[in-house]
Amino acid sequence: MNIQAFKQYLELLKLSGIQDIYFKNNLLKEIEPNQKNNSKISRITPNNIKNLKEKYSNCSKCKLSTSRNHFVYGNGNPNADMMLIGEGPGADEDKTGNVFVGKAGQLLTKMLKAINIERDEVYISNIIKCRPPGNRNPHNDEVEACLPYLLEQIEIISPKLILLLGRVAAISLFHIDQTLKNYRQKPLYFQGIKTYITYHPSALLRNPHWKKPAWVDLQKVRDDYKGLTKET
Ligand code: SF4
Repeated sequence: MNIQAFKQYLELLKLSGIQDIYFKNNLLKEIEPNQKNNSKISRITPNNIKNLKEKYSNCSKCKLSTSRNHFVYGNGNPNADMMLIGEGPGADEDKTGNVFVGKAGQLLTKMLKAINIERDEVYISNIIKCRPPGNRNPHNDEVEACLPYLLEQIEIISPKLILLLGRVAAISLFHIDQTLKNYRQKPLYFQGIKTYITYHPSALLRNPHWKKPAWVDLQKVRDDYKGLTKET
């Protein structure tokens, strides 16, 4: 990220109400010469991402704060090479504060296992961090209010591969206007990170005939992910 783009990114976070910004040391090295007097910048390792979860847990930037039981930030390996991004918490996630713990979560764990990836290896998050009532799709203003948290997570974790689960995730990051099947298996790039899109596990539970195409998507992801782990 060049300095100009970085400044715009800081502005976006600031406008969204995020006051303290944390970066991996390698990024901080790049920006330090121009940012020496900025006392708001702190060093953080990906392992400290838990602190951010606590810090934001009382967020009230959108109306979903009034109906949620738990703020659901994300779970998994903060040093992951791959990040999975779903839509938002469901009833089980809202109850526990953890991502993908209900039936859809169990299916996701199985899907990962089927391509020899343990769930603990990856980091999993959602576009929005609080459950929309009745599991409705999040509204645009809610996505807009919440997205800075996800952008910050992506910045800190710096995954080499992203897998978007479902249309809401794809629309939120890429503003796509066609059906999901037009985007599957073709890598897109989000902030320079190779990104694939596949079906959300909840959609697979509702429409089991999509499991076959989802399996084809996963095999593609597996091949790319294996390539990454060989490189490192
Ligand atoms: S959905 Fe996001 S922006 Fe809205 S209250 Fe929850 S954490 Fe805050």
